[in-house]
Amino acid sequence: MQKPIIIIGAGLAGWSSAREFRKLDKTTPVLLITADSGDFYAKPSLSNAFAQKRGPAQLVTTPAASMAQSQHVTLQAHTRVTAIDIASQTVHTSAGDYHYARLVLATGAQPIRIPMAGDAASEVLSVNSWQDFSVFHERLTAAKDALEVNDARKHVVIMGAGLIGCEFANDLISSGFVVSVVDPSSNPIAALLPVGLGGQLREALANQGVDWHFGTTVQAVDHQSGRSGGLEVRLANGQTLLADVVLSAIGLRADLSLAQAAGLLCERGMVVDVSLQTSAANVYALGDAAQYAGGRTMPYVMPIMHAAKALAATLAGRPTRVHFPLMPVAIKTPALPLVVAPAAAGTVGQWLQSEPGVWLFTDETQAVKGFALSGAHTSRRVELAKQVV
Ligand SMILES: Cc1cc2nc3c(=O)[nH]c(=O)nc-3n(C[C@H](O)[C@H](O)[C@H](O)COP(=O)(O)OP(=O)(O)OC[C@H]3O[C@@H](n4cnc5c(N)ncnc54)[C@H](O)[C@@H]3O)c2cc1C
Repeated sequence: MQKPIIIIGAGLAGWSSAREFRKLDKTTPVLLITADSGDFYAKPSLSNAFAQKRGPAQLVTTPAASMAQSQHVTLQAHTRVTAIDIASQTVHTSAGDYHYARLVLATGAQPIRIPMAGDAASEVLSVNSWQDFSVFHERLTAAKDALEVNDARKHVVIMGAGLIGCEFANDLISSGFVVSVVDPSSNPIAALLPVGLGGQLREALANQGVDWHFGTTVQAVDHQSGRSGGLEVRLANGQTLLADVVLSAIGLRADLSLAQAAGLLCERGMVVDVSLQTSAANVYALGDAAQYAGGRTMPYVMPIMHAAKALAATLAGRPTRVHFPLMPVAIKTPALPLVVAPAAAGTVGQWLQSEPGVWLFTDETQAVKGFALSGAHTSRRVELAKQVV
């Protein structure tokens, strides 16, 4: 019997790899193994679902069985891969062992958790999957304790003012929640945005009611005495915030234990070459789990689309190098819509505002290496992308 291509993971990277491969090869068996249900949802919609009044059920766009049928894929859902044996080309799972001809690792990344004091530290949530969102949604939509008389609105404390933290802050504030954001830096999305533009986002969200706490961190989360479900969030600067839910959005990191145990080269992700092959023959990786050539991790949708297309061609017998064009990221903060195309990691240069709503990142030769757009100017991303050299 022909050994299958095995894909591990049913996120955007896993399903996109299956779909692109099927466009080129209708017959080679494909087995997709995933720890979750395999239902398809667009992960970016998790951070603007409340404003669109979409709950977990509305976020699943295609049930797993329909995905498997349309891609002509055998789906092994609710199954965790526990080990990979490179020499015998076998994956060991909670449901038995499977042999592969080629293996695709699309296992994503997991929320970073920092140690915190307090008797409710384990109740801090993160949202990086449909399942996580379901818990978060349930906690925010469950009836509020009748003892709480001062404010019927639920209060969410968000740890982290990065891209995901700011998207949730905007979504929740515009959906009637009280929102506080805590971050050790001095501006939102400091890793991607010029300081001036970060300041504008800070002001736009403050105007909608977001309560910022910059230059400090969450030290402890405790149960609030006298109110069931209420939390007390202690900050390093001595302040205390009351909350119904604490959401940690401080970043993601690939869980590399499986790959490392299999002997695959790993750094910040599974290291892949320009053909998306890991350090082992016939084993490939893409998506949030991968570290691409040049040492780049790119935890966004567009890189996955490009990687899945190139990988499909390679798997179909046409070795293909992946090419990543400039891929601007739209930040879902309607209070101040933003598009950012960061310069490649390590590029030395500076941000300059060339006109209202347009920022250019230029190197020492004045060459444009990246840009950021705000408000109505976000529609100019194609025009600006042409200026980047
Ligand atoms: C809230 C939020 C909003 C976002 N918004 C945007 C946006 O607007 N634009 C943008 O470009 N990007 C956005 N992103 C990033 C983008 O969604 C991700 O880069 C992308 O979805 C990652 O897909 P993935 O398939 O690599 O990983 P994942 O979606 O994490 O999938 C990993 C899969 O692997 C499975 N798995 C893991 N380990 C095992 C195992 N051992 N055995 C079996 N199965 C396993 C999991 O069950 C899962 O099915 C957002 C991310 C988040 C969290």
